[in-house]
Amino acid sequence: MLNTLFDTHAHFTGQDAEIRELLDRALENGIGYIMAVGGDETLNDGALRASKIDAGVKVFHALGYDRDQAGRSDLPALEFADAKAIGEIGLDYHYEGASAKAQCELFAAQLEKAREHDLPVIIHTREADDDTLGVLREIPSRGIIHSFTGSPQFCRQLLDLGFMISYSGIVTFRAADNVRESAIIVPDDRILIETDTPYLAPVPMRGKSNEPAFVAYTARFLADLRKTPLDAFAALTTSNALSLLG
Ligand SMILES: [Zn+2]
Repeated sequence: MLNTLFDTHAHFTGQDAEIRELLDRALENGIGYIMAVGGDETLNDGALRASKIDAGVKVFHALGYDRDQAGRSDLPALEFADAKAIGEIGLDYHYEGASAKAQCELFAAQLEKAREHDLPVIIHTREADDDTLGVLREIPSRGIIHSFTGSPQFCRQLLDLGFMISYSGIVTFRAADNVRESAIIVPDDRILIETDTPYLAPVPMRGKSNEPAFVAYTARFLADLRKTPLDAFAALTTSNALSLLG
């Protein structure tokens, strides 16, 4: 399996030389494409820098403002000229942070930006099912629900809205039966894989700092779960990602 995998969600914050090492290891492990994802000034800068490193792996970038930036009035304007998506954006009610109202406002504003630029979005949603669906029904969008950990029912509702569903290393965790339940029902033409580097390293690397090379473990795990040959699963997830982001 030669450089066919697409890690659709990685954050980069290190020096260029460190990022290059991660990209080199990704290439050695069969990864051909990476979506470098923003979310705040530091992550946006890292995503942009990663996309400029010539390392044999094709690195795209997404820029945006995540829920932690909600309520800020000093957000620098973003330049989407070369961006392939806006992200990550979305809602997270798990941690005490910005109010739901402020998060929804920023989320909606980023979705409007995506429409304006005709770009797909990369969405984070955690313990905010109703508001996520509410905002998305108000502002029809296309894109990815990243590191999906919700219920099969929530998954179906997002599929009905046209979204692709992306799975991180969480799907390999022992306690993640709920996540595996939804990963079985996603149609072949809507499923994606990701690392969410540097977080959420899959089994057997759990606890280590995650990196794009490790998406290979998640790919193998999901291919087994869905009873698909690994080559075929790699090909379909990559073609899904390229059709949306390429
Ligand atoms: Zn992320």
